[in-house]
Amino acid sequence: MTVDIENLIDGESKFVSFSEKISLPDAYSVNGDVLVKLSGKISNEKKGLFHFSGNIVAVLNLNCDLCLKPFNFKLDFPVNELFSRSIHKKDDCLSFSGNIINLEPVILDNILVNMPMKAVCSNNCKGLCEICGHNLNESDCRCEKEHINPKFEKLKALFEESENE
Ligand SMILES: [Zn+2]
Ligand SMILES: [Zn+2]
Repeated sequence: MTVDIENLIDGESKFVSFSEKISLPDAYSVNGDVLVKLSGKISNEKKGLFHFSGNIVAVLNLNCDLCLKPFNFKLDFPVNELFSRSIHKKDDCLSFSGNIINLEPVILDNILVNMPMKAVCSNNCKGLCEICGHNLNESDCRCEKEHINPKFEKLKALFEESENE
């Protein structure tokens, strides 16, 4: 995902659009190769300064924090980055040399920043049984659940007493 800016004169901008598979580090996604769509424009802001503004869409494959199953998670977010060719690198700019701007590091950084804090396959995910580890989304298990209503416990005891009489 590189942009050739050799012919981009001062004050001009050009449209950029990519749809490519990118290898993401393991921590990002279960499937290493992720299709990333990037679109936007790059502008020559003069004095060796270039501004990219656009949008990134990527579908990551994450493991659910509750049920541990992999699921697809769609990221869709805007990106704004400044690139500087000057020798005096500014803090808020990414530096580059020559006439090629590589957008891939920008994509990786932005995907990391936009990753969800908590990955959950769906709002209705029931997770795993605390006792047997069974995936409760697939079916119920036969474990006695811990939180039994104390009132019900008393009733149950009463029933058991009367049964024994
Ligand atoms: Zn889940
Ligand atoms: Zn269970």
